[in-house]
Amino acid sequence: MVITRFAPSPTGFLHVGGARTCIYNYLYSRAKGGKFLLRIEDTDRERYREEWVVGIIEGLKWLGIEWDEPEVYQSQRLEIYKKYAEMLIEKGYAYRCFCTPEELEEERKRYESIKRPYRYSRKCLNLSEREVEENLKKGKPFSIRFKIPDYEDITFNDLIHGEIKYNTKDLGGDFIIMKSDGFPTYNFAVVIDDHLMEITYVIRGDDHIANTPKQILIYRALGWEPPKFAHLPMILGPDRQKLSKRHGATSLEEFRNEGILPDALFNYLALLGWSPGGNREIVSKDEMIRIFDIKDVNKSPSVFDHQKMLWMNSEYIRMRKDEELIMELKDYNSHLKKQGMGYDIDEEFYPVLVRLFKERVKTLKDFFEYGKFVYKDEYPFDSEAVKKRLSYENIFGYLRELADRFESLNIWKSDEIERVLRGYADELGIKHAILIHAVRVSVSGTGVGPSLFHLLEELGKDRVVMRLRNVEEKVKGILQRP
Ligand code: GLU
Repeated sequence: MVITRFAPSPTGFLHVGGARTCIYNYLYSRAKGGKFLLRIEDTDRERYREEWVVGIIEGLKWLGIEWDEPEVYQSQRLEIYKKYAEMLIEKGYAYRCFCTPEELEEERKRYESIKRPYRYSRKCLNLSEREVEENLKKGKPFSIRFKIPDYEDITFNDLIHGEIKYNTKDLGGDFIIMKSDGFPTYNFAVVIDDHLMEITYVIRGDDHIANTPKQILIYRALGWEPPKFAHLPMILGPDRQKLSKRHGATSLEEFRNEGILPDALFNYLALLGWSPGGNREIVSKDEMIRIFDIKDVNKSPSVFDHQKMLWMNSEYIRMRKDEELIMELKDYNSHLKKQGMGYDIDEEFYPVLVRLFKERVKTLKDFFEYGKFVYKDEYPFDSEAVKKRLSYENIFGYLRELADRFESLNIWKSDEIERVLRGYADELGIKHAILIHAVRVSVSGTGVGPSLFHLLEELGKDRVVMRLRNVEEKVKGILQRP
């Protein structure tokens, strides 16, 4: 059976790279009818924060990823790592190192001064049993180091990159597997857990390629079969540098706040380095599960293109049923409100926003931003638009008269509204467009937007009449400015 896992370290927000790694692990396990597990690698106690764990779990659930067993926390498994570390000592593959941080720092400096890459001097490798006993009796703190063979090629077959070879002399010397605080290091814990969780495929970022030979050595020392490895190429920014904060939003949380739909993000990230074939871009999760194979993932890095993601998001918004979109907008707004960033809007306006803007927005946020004038009576006026559209002679008089005519309408429907407006323009002998533009700016504050007569219908008669009557007062200041 295929068993994959996602193993984030809770040292920050879940970012695009991690999310894509997770998606590939998830897709691959689902594609093969296997299992997908989640392991929280929380052994770096200095950088650990509880809220990162919560954020990761919430983020994955939001993205629509579910795991098949309760998540595993490394910090709850210290006894297990200890047991295996001691086993390695017994078998002669590892040893206790009593060197103090100061001694190690000195060693490092010595290497630096002769410009050689640092590796541990192995001072503690040859301690006699008695010396070790004495140190332990004295309660001297120690770490446990793995003994790297001096000169040996370690080869593995990466499912994406093909054969990869490292010589043990290039692995940086005997590395620590257990720190003096009793916590394991990444390279050790990952092996113990992947083995005990029966992981068959390790799919992770390229940045772990150089760790893999060390892990293979540990598998070998414990007499275990290593899993298969697939290392995913990096995600780059548009300038082809490693994607980072400099490039704008990169975390799931930021995208969620921006108003990206989870399935749109899932789709976009899945296609960053993998293609369903045939130039297709909008692919559902179910379809991906049918056709995904880790072997089809690109070898070369992919570029994260924010505009492209927004485009995909707008496609997903348009594919949503109105009722679903309304639910989604409500959830989104309450998510923002929890962070003190939500919009004040009455229930009744959600369907209006959806009808007016569904075809025009790129994000959920856009609905609330474009639609401010719909659900608020205080809305900003764009001064360019005001100057251009509301400077026509006697325009405010015309707007007031139009307001009266609108007020006496019994049926408030777009074609009725249109008939009245055009009829009045004909009476005045002015171009219809003059009134149309003036009305738009008056009721919405901007010169662009959805079809005017539908907009007026959606806004409702009372609101439109009131806005046409009040507009002169509201834009006076703008028109007086030079
Ligand atoms: N905790 C590691 C990371 O976040 C996991 C690497 C792995 O999948 O082995 O990079």
